[in-house]
Amino acid sequence: MKEALLKDPVFGMAAEQFDRVADFLELDAEVRERCKWPKRLITVTLPVTMDDGRTEVFFGHRVQHHLSRGPVKGGLRFHPNVNIGEVAALAMWMNWKCALMGLPYGGGKGGIACDPRTMSMREQERLTRRFAQEIAPFIGPEIDVMAPDVGTTAQHMAWILDTYSTREGRFVPEIVTGKPVELQGSEGRTQATGHGVAFTITLALAKLGIKIQGTTAIVQGYGNVGSHAVDTMIGYGMKVTGISDISGAIWNAKGIDHHALHEHVSTHGGIKGFPGAEPIDPDTLLLQECDALVPAALERVITKDNAAKLKCRILAEAANGPTTPEADAIIEQRGDIFLIPDVLCNAGGVTVSYFEWVQNLQRFSWTKHEVLTKLETKLNEAFTNLNNFCEKHNCGMRLGALATGIQTVANVKQTRGLFP
Ligand code: NAD
Repeated sequence: MKEALLKDPVFGMAAEQFDRVADFLELDAEVRERCKWPKRLITVTLPVTMDDGRTEVFFGHRVQHHLSRGPVKGGLRFHPNVNIGEVAALAMWMNWKCALMGLPYGGGKGGIACDPRTMSMREQERLTRRFAQEIAPFIGPEIDVMAPDVGTTAQHMAWILDTYSTREGRFVPEIVTGKPVELQGSEGRTQATGHGVAFTITLALAKLGIKIQGTTAIVQGYGNVGSHAVDTMIGYGMKVTGISDISGAIWNAKGIDHHALHEHVSTHGGIKGFPGAEPIDPDTLLLQECDALVPAALERVITKDNAAKLKCRILAEAANGPTTPEADAIIEQRGDIFLIPDVLCNAGGVTVSYFEWVQNLQRFSWTKHEVLTKLETKLNEAFTNLNNFCEKHNCGMRLGALATGIQTVANVKQTRGLFP
């Protein structure tokens, strides 16, 4: 199984990062093994009746990396490329992220190999409910709490909540986060990840002594994370000059009008053809000059082929795992790019998910202002601690962030000891 997981390029990348950090921390060999491998890998098959009457069988996965520090927490992804290795890697990163942010969770992730863009909402509902039904014996508010990720939204969480609650015979809002507010979702959760991305960029600008007003950003991905990051950055006085999504890429050196873009996307389903900007090749977009480059789509987009050519001052990893280890090495060697690693940059999502879970357990709700203020406090604290760690150990932000997370998990494993 170890070999099979390591063969997956995304898990291989997460494992390579882990080994590098474990060497840096001089982790004991036994603890190292216990920290590296996921506790539970669950795969279920999902027969679903399609709108044309056919039955199609999908594969769904859920990986619970560790339960040593609390229930696992992580998104559910709908994407054609989903496989168990990718899901295991994402679960591992979630584990280090939760530990870095001081949240009482282990890392989890789930995914169904499907293309939601070609499926009707009825088909997606049947698929989501079937997954919730099949995975129900392995999840729970104190075991595993899902949230939206690529290709899923608050609506998918509502279907999981409904399926799980119906099984239990009671309303269980704390089974998922990122759900609609009327089902006791948290105010501020939808924009939390993008808001956190933009907020960490302002922390990095302050650290570099650059005034926010008029700084520029390029964003790859205009889904939940990318679009809210754009809104918040523009709200802070930044200018977003380039944006891409699966449909194409656009460029306007004067800054893209995000209200007009929202309207265009809701009418046309993507940014392609937006009249307020010029089309640009998506790969070339990443190489344009900007203060902050924000990959907010999928993993492994900053590679050895483009890392040396980036012209950004800050690389803000809104997506999970957007930079390959080879690219990481190039960026570290260049020394002129300030990296905000994914485990910190996009931690706004899981942090507000944690706030949502806490509110649900208490049957109490906070205002959006309270939620976003508490989020900023948490991110500020984590950013400052990480900076101090990196300065003390003379290491880069990625190594520092992963080292902080991994050391926290390793300490808990060591203290709890080995059962039986
Ligand atoms: P989403 O499905 O809402 O949006 C994904 C976006 O990426 C879409 O605009 C899509 O068109 C675009 N995209 C896909 N392929 C692309 C390509 N080749 N080039 C350019 N754009 C492309 O997903 P999301 O929730 O915004 O998640 C984006 C990333 O952020 C993922 O890596 C996810 O794991 C991570 N993340 C999400 C959250 C969250 O709260 N949603 C939290 C933490 C991390």
